[in-house]
Amino acid sequence: MSSNHSPGISRTPRIPRLPRIPPMLLHICCAPCSPYVVEELQRDYDLTLYFYNPNIHPEEEYVKRLEEVRVWTKSAGLKLVEGEYDADTWFDKTKGLEDEPERGKRCEVCFDIRLSKAADEAGRLGFENYGAVLSVSPHKDSAVINRIGSDAGKKRGVKFFEADWKKKEGYKVTTRMAKDMGFYRQDYCGCVYSRRGRGKQ
Ligand code: SF4
Repeated sequence: MSSNHSPGISRTPRIPRLPRIPPMLLHICCAPCSPYVVEELQRDYDLTLYFYNPNIHPEEEYVKRLEEVRVWTKSAGLKLVEGEYDADTWFDKTKGLEDEPERGKRCEVCFDIRLSKAADEAGRLGFENYGAVLSVSPHKDSAVINRIGSDAGKKRGVKFFEADWKKKEGYKVTTRMAKDMGFYRQDYCGCVYSRRGRGKQ
């Protein structure tokens, strides 16, 4: 009986290739909005979280939200990239929009500032995909976020993951998860104008 094997030469066993899990840079606005989205995306993506939120005022509040993110990501073994707190840039770009209501023009500019930076960072770090948890909030328009995120990604060759995370009770679930994990939850979106809208200075 003939054999294709030469005597004395052993075959290297074929190691099955595991499917590649695509990496994604995920912009997060704060700890309590994020756990549901992270859990959902982790099924298909190798996530790195990105905290870039120069909209948050005052600075003590920014530090508080960032610190909460640091503690959570460390305990959960999640990768985190921290952006800089360039609040002056945020104020420059939103000048003249101070009196806009939440969900108005100022919020569009605010999304663009944060998502453009996330797309920049994704491109710089070699990510093919990026996303955002922003649309989990019932106060945020997912269509606007998806349009801004996709446009910012196209300019930089990075694909934006379009979603409406508040669907399927996403906000309710993430709120419950955040409560179970004992996260600090703020009572205003982030900027000084949204803070004033809650009756604070
Ligand atoms: S309300 Fe929130 S999304 Fe709108 S401008 Fe202020 S921080 Fe940004």
